[in-house]
Amino acid sequence: MQKKGYILKGRIIDGTLAAPIERGAVVVDGERIAWVGELDALPHDHLSRGYQVIDLPDRSILPGLIDAHTHISFGESRSEEENALYTPVEFRTAKALYYSKKILQAGVTSAFDAATAYNIGQAVRDAIDTGMFDGPRFTISGKQLTTHQGLEDSFPNNMEFPPGQSAVLIKTRDDLVEAIRFQVKDEVDAIKVSGSNDNLITPDALGSSAFTFEEFCIIANETHRLGRICSVHARSRDSALDSARAGFDNLFHASYIDDAGIEACLENKCVITPTLTLLVNLIDAKQSNAGASGSSAFSREVEAATVNLRRAYKAGVPLLAGSESGWSPVPYGQWHAREMELFVDLLGMSPIEAIHANTLAVTRLLPRYGHEVGKIEAGRLADLLVVPGNPAKDIRILQRPRSFDYIFKGGTPIDRTPQAPRVRKWYERQKTFLNGVYEFDEETGRGRLTL
Ligand SMILES: [Zn+2]
Repeated sequence: MQKKGYILKGRIIDGTLAAPIERGAVVVDGERIAWVGELDALPHDHLSRGYQVIDLPDRSILPGLIDAHTHISFGESRSEEENALYTPVEFRTAKALYYSKKILQAGVTSAFDAATAYNIGQAVRDAIDTGMFDGPRFTISGKQLTTHQGLEDSFPNNMEFPPGQSAVLIKTRDDLVEAIRFQVKDEVDAIKVSGSNDNLITPDALGSSAFTFEEFCIIANETHRLGRICSVHARSRDSALDSARAGFDNLFHASYIDDAGIEACLENKCVITPTLTLLVNLIDAKQSNAGASGSSAFSREVEAATVNLRRAYKAGVPLLAGSESGWSPVPYGQWHAREMELFVDLLGMSPIEAIHANTLAVTRLLPRYGHEVGKIEAGRLADLLVVPGNPAKDIRILQRPRSFDYIFKGGTPIDRTPQAPRVRKWYERQKTFLNGVYEFDEETGRGRLTL
């Protein structure tokens, strides 16, 4: 009788910094990897177990990608208003399940979700983990803790903080501890803090930090006491420095980190997840010159990040690859592998280092199951990609998931059938009844729409 399993013969890139094994084999038994190594060293008893043997000439076998920065609850929002105000939570959750399958079909078998709206992230994670829907293995951060100086407190002071915003507004120090305990009760895996503002929302709002050093310490201590990890949105120099000094596990962006911040990261073993894809996509899409968001601010930030993050990486701070999928510049299922190309082109990494940054390196953000994924190693879950060619030579191969031969999650090839495009409901985006002003032109005696 055939046992459920596979012997995959091809080039192996295992998720570590090791050179590829050019003629390798991976044995998959049930949901786990049973053996990996040089093909010539494959023990004979594996061959007699009835596994399906698959020859993969000029193919590479890698761990499934781990995206270190997604927002599964954001639904490809184009604005803060769309994200915070529109679409009932129930429909948002259904959308998130639809999008989860797209992420998996892009070869992303695990993901770190870096702030949720409502408790959508936890529901999606659990719906996937209990076998009801297809998607990556998610690690979920709660709503971002923010202040009036942080990202997400976007609306005027004369209105209430919207419950649909993916943040909770912190007013006093006691609120900090309460918010963390509240979220842990709601089954988050991680605490997320909005440590600075963001050019996306407020132009050049990079000067200061949204929390004091003492407040960052309170957050880190309480989060760690409750067995969770904490990350921070830290575009400004001060927010990167103070959160790293306070012992945060992960800094998002850190574009303006300086030597003192780098030193603090090394001392406290903080990692940085730059998430350059969002900025570069925004610049490329030329969508950034409307309203408050100037494209020059994004370009300046990419320039600064290129210098500062190179220095951080050289000094020994691990960099993790995340896409920020969930906002409209980074739609689900399409850009998850671009960060690796940017790490190579902008930060000077080798393709093998970039693949490591998008696989094994991210497992430190996955406290529940990080030891079970991210590397092709006996005993770990068989979350694997089989791709044409050699991504150690051309990293962009990984951006074309439809060309992959296989995507395995837990030893089973996933359903690759593309989902039908969904239809947008009228209540999702905005309540604009005319996109422009219908002006009267006295010359012609007619109306004219101006934008
Ligand atoms: Zn984000």
